[in-house]
Amino acid sequence: MNAPGSARTVTPPEHVFDWLDGIAEQRADAGLTRVLRARSAEEGQLDLAGNDYLGLARDKRVAGAAAAAALRWGAGATGSRLVTGSTELHAELEYELARFCGAQAALVFSSGFTANLGAVTALTGREAAIVTDKYIHASLIEGCRLSRADVAAVAHNSPEAVEHALATRRKQRALVVTDSVFSVDGDLAPLRELSAVCRRHSAALLVDDAHGLGVLGDGGRGAVHAAGLAGEPDVVITVTLSKSLGAQGGAVLGPRRVIKHLVNTARSFIFDTALAPASAASALAALRVLQDEPELAERVRTRANELSTRLHEAGFAVTVPDGAVVSVRAPGPDDAVAWAARCAERGVRVGCFRPPSVPDGVSRLRLTARADLTDSEMDRAVTVITETAPPQARR
Ligand code: PMP
Repeated sequence: MNAPGSARTVTPPEHVFDWLDGIAEQRADAGLTRVLRARSAEEGQLDLAGNDYLGLARDKRVAGAAAAAALRWGAGATGSRLVTGSTELHAELEYELARFCGAQAALVFSSGFTANLGAVTALTGREAAIVTDKYIHASLIEGCRLSRADVAAVAHNSPEAVEHALATRRKQRALVVTDSVFSVDGDLAPLRELSAVCRRHSAALLVDDAHGLGVLGDGGRGAVHAAGLAGEPDVVITVTLSKSLGAQGGAVLGPRRVIKHLVNTARSFIFDTALAPASAASALAALRVLQDEPELAERVRTRANELSTRLHEAGFAVTVPDGAVVSVRAPGPDDAVAWAARCAERGVRVGCFRPPSVPDGVSRLRLTARADLTDSEMDRAVTVITETAPPQARR
C-alpha cells in the first residue's frame, strides 16, 4: 500500500499499447473485426456497394477533368482555403452547386465529413440546443459532440418527437439536424413536416443531403430542393461530392450570411487544407453532366426500385427505396458477413451492415443502385444474391 500523499505504484505494461490487445480480442470475440481490402483497378466486380450512384466516378469527362486540373493547378491545393487553397475552380464549383441546388450560396470543404463538422459546430455552440434524428450520420454526431450544445437525439423520422424536444429545450437558439436519405436503409426524412415544426419553434433546419443530391428532386437537385426548401432563409444543406458526383469533397449550401459565417468560424474549413483542385474540377464536371443528362437521376431511382421489387418477389425482406439504397434483411451478423462474402466470390460486391454500425441491431446487406446498371447486370445481381442467401433470409 502507498503511504498517503506518495505516488501510486503501478505495474508497467510491457508496452504502452498493450491495452489495444484487449479491445482487439473483444471485437474479435463479437465477430466485429474490420479489415481493409484493397481493390485493384481491374477487379471487374459488379459494384453494388459503393455510392457512385450515377456511375460518374470513372466517366471520362469527370476523371479527365481531374487529370487536366491536376496538371494545370498541381496535385494538391497547397494551403487552406483562406491562405492559398482557393482556386477559380473552387469558386466556380461553389457558384454552380448553389445555383443547381437552388441555394443562395455554397462553401466547399475537403469532405462531407468536415462540411458536417463545420456547419454543426459553427451554427450552434454552448448557447444552443440541437435536436437530431437518432440515426443521423456519424459526422453529424461528431459535430454535435464538438459543439458543446445541449443535444437531444430523438426517435427516427418523428416530427412529433422533434417538436417535443424543441418545446422543452432550455436554450433559445436551436438547430434541428437530420439526414435527408438515411444511409443504411435509404429511407427519406419528412422534410416539409420538420421544416414546419422548426418554424413553429424558431429553430433552423440542417439537412445532410449526401444521398439525395444527384438522385432525388428535379434532375437530381436533391431532396431539399424536392421539398421546396432549398432557398429558404432558415434551411442549411450539406452534401458530399463523393457519391453521385463521383469525386471527393463536401459542401455546405444555404443563406449567404450563413456561408459568410462559416468562412470566418468553421474550424474544419479554416484549419484544413483546401479540397484538391482535381477533386473540385471533377465535381464540377459531374455537375455539368448531370445538368446535360437530367434523366440520370430518374434512372438510378428506377434501378433501385427494380432491385427492391425483384428481391421482394424472391422472398426477401427488403426496403422500398426512396433513393438509390436498397437494404435486405439478414438473419444475423455472421449470416450477413458470410452472405456478402459469397456474393463477392461470385463477383458481386454488396455492402454489409451489422451492429454496432446499425443501432437498431438488425444486420442487413446494403445494395446501391447505379444509373449505368445494364439489364444483364441487374439479372446477375438478383441471381447471385438469391442463390447465395442463407435459408433463414427468406421472409
Ligand atoms: N453524410 C452522410 C449521410 C454520408 O453517408 C457520408 C459518407 N459516408 C458523409 C456525410 C461523409 O461524406 P464524405 O465521405 O464526403 O466525408
